Formats: sequence, structure tokens, C-alpha cells
Amino acid sequence: MTTLQATKIKDLKGSVKGEVILPIDDSYESARKVWNAMIDKRPALIVRCATTSDVVHAVNFAKGNLLPLAVRGGGHNIAGSAICDDGIVIDLSQMKAASIDIGARRATIEGGATLADFDAATQAHGLATPLGINSTTGIAGLTLGGGFGWLSRKYGMTIDNLESAEVVTAAGEVVRASATVRPDLFWALRGGGGNFGVVTRFEFRLHPVGPDLLSGLIVYPIAEAKAVLQQYREFIAKAPDELSVWTVLRLAPPLPFLPEKVHGQGMIALALLYAGDPVQGQALIEPLRKFGTPLGEHVGVQPYTAWQQAFDPLLTPGARNYWKSHNFSVLKDGLFDAVIEYIGKLPSPQCEIFFGAIGGATARPAPGSAAYPHRDAQFVMNVHGRWADPADDERGIRWARDFFKASAPFASGGVYVNFLTADEGDRVSAAYGQNYDRLAQIKRKYDPENLFSTNQNIKPA
Ligand SMILES: Cc1cc2nc3c(=O)[nH]c(=O)nc-3n(C[C@H](O)[C@H](O)[C@H](O)COP(=O)(O)OP(=O)(O)OC[C@H]3O[C@@H](n4cnc5c(N)ncnc54)[C@H](O)[C@@H]3O)c2cc1C
Repeated sequence: MTTLQATKIKDLKGSVKGEVILPIDDSYESARKVWNAMIDKRPALIVRCATTSDVVHAVNFAKGNLLPLAVRGGGHNIAGSAICDDGIVIDLSQMKAASIDIGARRATIEGGATLADFDAATQAHGLATPLGINSTTGIAGLTLGGGFGWLSRKYGMTIDNLESAEVVTAAGEVVRASATVRPDLFWALRGGGGNFGVVTRFEFRLHPVGPDLLSGLIVYPIAEAKAVLQQYREFIAKAPDELSVWTVLRLAPPLPFLPEKVHGQGMIALALLYAGDPVQGQALIEPLRKFGTPLGEHVGVQPYTAWQQAFDPLLTPGARNYWKSHNFSVLKDGLFDAVIEYIGKLPSPQCEIFFGAIGGATARPAPGSAAYPHRDAQFVMNVHGRWADPADDERGIRWARDFFKASAPFASGGVYVNFLTADEGDRVSAAYGQNYDRLAQIKRKYDPENLFSTNQNIKPA
């Protein structure tokens, strides 16, 4: 580092309330880690911001010193776009403050909060908005890509519940965006990823949810997977918006409600949540128990926040992850055959293939109503390649790519931007479809120099 840079860094340290972390600092190694252990990048400095004004200083520092810039929310993105080599990371992980307006049913939350932070603040009042299924995910990245989870069939994508955002733009200005203030920016933020600025605060609409709801798992052997999937397809087509049922195919983890002899054997799990009266939910889910001969089930009334965290133990940070994803409008038998074949050759016991059933309220807005365009997607499939040892990288990646190819003929062609890996820059146009050109125009207006480029990048028109 030259003397000039050292002086500049001293000035930056003097002007921010948060922390500036350099490679020589003890905290650097942990600060540069993200959820996916395959990502190993070494930024020149990490600014752990405490305030919106810190973010402004960091943005101006990046521009003034022509440094690559990355923005970190929850650090979960599979592509590792929260971090960069040799540049500056704007790390929002300390900015998590939330405030709830119970009467107006609104939550305001800072850009470094996790889903767990959000749920804790809102469920204290029996309120919620649709988020994802792993509570350590960042609100920011999830929302900016679209966001969906157990409440989405009833209340829409996370972006469909966004009321406004506070954004630090590439010009270093703090602006607000909503349906009436800078509507173009607001449109782009709802799905356009981190391309348009640093979102320091989100305002969401809330709904009465729980706090106790019917949720859980029903598990069948892999030998029954095709029949289960076929019945699931018929069932979900008629299910009310309140009911979400996802399917997960993998080797059975050592869950206490499964007999020991099936641990490590192939299985298909139906994971469900009923966002309504649990008594009605019990009646509705009865057919799910009759798709075959279940290996076990764990379904009951429990806090919504517990279900929001139920998958956390399987999705801990620190593993090596390589994902592939497709959207589907319908599920065809040929797809089921391909899934079952590839579950038969899993490269590691941590790998899985899941189908998240969205549809319902996520499918009702027009594709052009926000940057996220996939209103035709009834199912989002994710191939979770996941293992511990770098020596398994090649085998694991090959498995994920091969299954991705085998399932492509049945897919809709669209893909959820938040599930793209680092080597899928060529799929960004598929992630935005007909909305790409408008996004590129808005990018030119708010970030003509492409300062925010460490992401699934939309190039300024
Ligand atoms: C285990 C796991 C489970 C998941 N489950 C779901 C799910 O159920 N539903 C779903 O919709 N998605 C899910 N996802 C995908 C998730 O939405 C994305 O990985 C998302 O990008 C994570 O957001 P983050 O803030 O944690 O990530 P980060 O890696 O911090 O950021 C992701 C991207 O957003 C940008 N960004 C982050 N914060 C800001 C900000 N404040 N302002 C501007 N740009 C910012 C970053 O620069 C980066 O490009 C899951 C991911 C994982 C790893």
C-alpha cells in the first residue's frame, strides 16, 4: 500500500463511525468469508458501516480511488458477489435496526438485517411478510432479487410487499424510491439485484401471520418418488394460496422422527406450511399422507419463526456450494425420471434437488410490473450441490451441471437471479427476459459508469 493510500485510509477511518478492516487486521480473515466456502476473495479493505453516511463515504472512496466495489448484505449469495478481490467491500452486517408501525402494518429495516432479524421484530406483533426459507439469509440480497418463501403463494414475492427504499446511489446521494418517488428506480430495485445502488433501509408491508402455524415434513422413500411427484403435481394445482408444499429429494439426514435404518437412504420430503387456521390446514393436508407409505412425518402447530429456521441446520455456512436452477411452469413426467436418476448418483450426502412451489399470488402481477419478470413460474428448482472437501469440487460441479442439462428440456427458460452461480453471467438476460432493456436504461440513469458491477450485472444501456 502506498503512502498516499495509507493517508487516504486514515482519512476514511476518521470519517466513518463504523470499522475499516484491512488485510493486516485480525478480523480480516473472518470478515472476508461469505456463506459459500468456494468463494475465496481478498478485498483491499472492508468498511463495516454503522450508518447511511458511512455508506456514502465508502461509495465516494471507491469512486475517488477507482476501486472495485462490492456490497455485502447477509453474505449468502452463492456467486459470492458480496465480496471482491483488491477492492472495497461495503459491509452492512452491523446495520440491522428495525422499527415496526403496528397500526399501519409497516416494517422499516436496515440493509444488513437477516431474515431472522426481520421475523423476530415483526412476529413479536404477530405480523410478517414473505421471505426465504433459511433465516441467516440477508433481507437485502433476497429482496433485491425478488424473494420468495412459505408465505409467497398467499402474499406474493418479497418485492410485492416492498413499500419504499432508501438508497445510496453511485453519485453518492441518499435518495428514496417508492411507487411515487423515483418510480423508475423503485421498479428496478424490485428484482434488479444490487445494480442500482446500496439500499440502506427497506420499508415493507406486513400481514397478520401466526404466530403459530401448521408446518412440517412428510417423508417418503425414493422408490415412491415418481408416484409422489405425480400426485403432488395434481394436489398443488388445486391447493389454496394459504398452503405451500415444496418437495426435496436427497439422502435422508438423521432426523429424529425417521427410523435409523433409513438415515442416508434416498428420500423425497414434502415440506409444508399452511398460512391460515391450523384446523383447516390439517384437513387440507390429509391427502399428502396418502401418496404412498411414509417413512415418517413431523407435522404440527409450531411458531412460524421456528419453521423459518427449520432448515438452518442443513444450510450452515462454510460448505462448498455449487448450484444450478431452472424455473418451471408445469412439471412433466420426464423431469421426474431425470430427477430420480440423478438422486441415484448424488456426489455427496449434502446434495439435494428441491422444487419450491410458488404460483398463487406471485403469479398475479404483470411480468412488467417490477424488474423481476417470472410471473409464469409455478416452480423454482434448485440443484444444491454441496460438499465439504475441495477435492470433491470437480465431481460435484459435474453432477450439478449434468442434471441441469438433463432437466433443461422441461424448463420454462427463465431463471431466478438469486440462484445464479458465479459462472452464469450469460444467464442474466434469461433472469430478466423482456425487462432487461428497461433495466439497462435505468442503469444508465443511476449508475452510468457501472460502479455497482460486482453482481449479476446489468450493463448501462
Ligand atoms: C441457503 C440459502 C437459502 C436460500 N433460500 C432462498 C429462498 O428461500 N428464497 C429466496 O428468494 N432466495 C433464497 N436464497 C437466495 C438468496 O435470496 C440470495 O442468495 C441473496 O442474494 C442473499 O442475500 P444476502 O444479502 O444474504 O447476500 P449477499 O451475498 O450479501 O448479497 C447478494 C447480492 O446483493 C447485493 N447486495 C447485498 N446487500 C445489498 C444492499 N443493501 N444494497 C444493494 N445491494 C446489496 C450484493 O452486492 C450481491 O450482489 C437462498 C440462499 C441461500 C444461500
